[in-house]
Amino acid sequence: MPAFIGSIDQGTTSSRFLIFDERGTLIVQHQLEFPQHYPNPGWIEHDPADIIESVEVCIKKAIEKFIKKGYSVNDIKAIGITNQRETTLVWDKVTGKSLYNAIVWCDIRTHDLVHELNSKSPLGAEVLKELCGLPITTYFSALKLKWLLDNDSKVKEAHDKGTLMFGNVDTWLVWNLTGGCNGGLHITDVTNASRTMFMDIKKLEWNEELIKYFGVKSDCLPRICSSSEVYGQVKTIESIKGIPIAGILGDQQAALVGQKCFHHGETKNTYGTGCFMLFNTGTDIVISKKGLLTTVGYKFGNEPTVYALEGSIAVAGSAIKWVRDNLGIIKEASEINDLASKVKDTGGVYFVTAFSGLFAPYWRDDARGCIVGITQFTNKSHIARATLEAACFQTKAILEAINSEFGFQLKSLKVDGGMTNSDLCMQIQADILGIDVDRPAMRETTALGAAMAAGHAVGVWESLEGLKTVNTQGRMLFSSQITKEESEQRYNVWKKAVERSLNWA
Ligand code: ADP
Repeated sequence: MPAFIGSIDQGTTSSRFLIFDERGTLIVQHQLEFPQHYPNPGWIEHDPADIIESVEVCIKKAIEKFIKKGYSVNDIKAIGITNQRETTLVWDKVTGKSLYNAIVWCDIRTHDLVHELNSKSPLGAEVLKELCGLPITTYFSALKLKWLLDNDSKVKEAHDKGTLMFGNVDTWLVWNLTGGCNGGLHITDVTNASRTMFMDIKKLEWNEELIKYFGVKSDCLPRICSSSEVYGQVKTIESIKGIPIAGILGDQQAALVGQKCFHHGETKNTYGTGCFMLFNTGTDIVISKKGLLTTVGYKFGNEPTVYALEGSIAVAGSAIKWVRDNLGIIKEASEINDLASKVKDTGGVYFVTAFSGLFAPYWRDDARGCIVGITQFTNKSHIARATLEAACFQTKAILEAINSEFGFQLKSLKVDGGMTNSDLCMQIQADILGIDVDRPAMRETTALGAAMAAGHAVGVWESLEGLKTVNTQGRMLFSSQITKEESEQRYNVWKKAVERSLNWA
């Protein structure tokens, strides 16, 4: 009997539904971009209805393609969900209606609140970090939920009368797919919960102290589950009705699983809208002194929890979008590669893409983007190339933090995400890091990770070791083609550009 697994990948700029077979081969997929809303500088929102509708359309279209290929929906054994993390949604349990647009992870409207909390209690911030693994920054859901309670009367009213439901995108999707107001499940998984600032990172439970600190009542929080178990069945989409939802992982954790980084020290870097490096620390909870985040990597059913250290870059592929939409020098993201290839280097131009502050390892929300080193000679190709280099240099800064935290040098880096479609960018990355960059042929590793979690829960894959053979064909290795001295020299200049970005005012 053939077995297939479906995977909902709800990202920052698009939604996808993909179907994999039991060898992890991608059979069909459908992807849909949805609108981004920028109501004020630094604010980024999604319409919660767009999130649901785009997912529904992707499911319907992918299922049509699946059936057209001669397969049967009855052979889809489970569905996994992976999602943009931290993005915060609030809705009313009685009406089922959202009470505000989703506040997206990279939105910096909580800037003032963050400063107030950090200056009020710098010591308190350290205690919080020990409890949840995270610093107080604009990034995490707790700050966004507090902002909503402080600034929107409808949200506050629902909170006070006990009808408010809070969730990240995984929670919003599961609640809607399993029935919404008619018995929908209000749940999340440990990886998503570990990005809220409400969860005790050791106990994997909502923490009273943290919840109180942000002024939130616990009844609006979802129930925390593992990343791989049967949570319930799809009820609201006819074409996949009755199929169990059996895996949930935040997108970066899903990529960690999809890249099969199951052992201590294995590391992946995903270049999407932002760029996120996750380093598997096994069952150890490491609180970083170098600007890295402590996060849950994954927890499959009752198996031990695996933790990770994370280096987060807010702007990576979105800088290419900015070059496309705001500078207008390319029409498609992929065109950046031809443009950047026209020059052999950036001609001394460096671009720090701190559009919404700088995340790891700096954590400065007052940093702003800068392009330095411009001369009369500079043209659009140099800017294009510097845009690709930006994420690669910040990746180097994160890798240095990881290396110094653990006192050893990583030998190779597994990569995935939209930007890794660029051979040029991956070569630049290998040159800057001086280690091998290892790219799989099938780059939908985020979706694959969620499928693996779901497949594991329903017995399609019995053990994590059994998953080792999934997606191994056709990997490509990029090795450095420049000297260590040249690489160091360029990185040192980039660090000076970062200084400008941090001290621009
Ligand atoms: P997300 O899941 O965050 O929405 P994706 O992994 O889908 O992101 O990656 C999307 C990003 O990848 C876009 O921001 C785009 O700029 C970039 N991208 C897509 N194709 C290419 C390409 N051929 N070369 C370089 N960058 C690309």
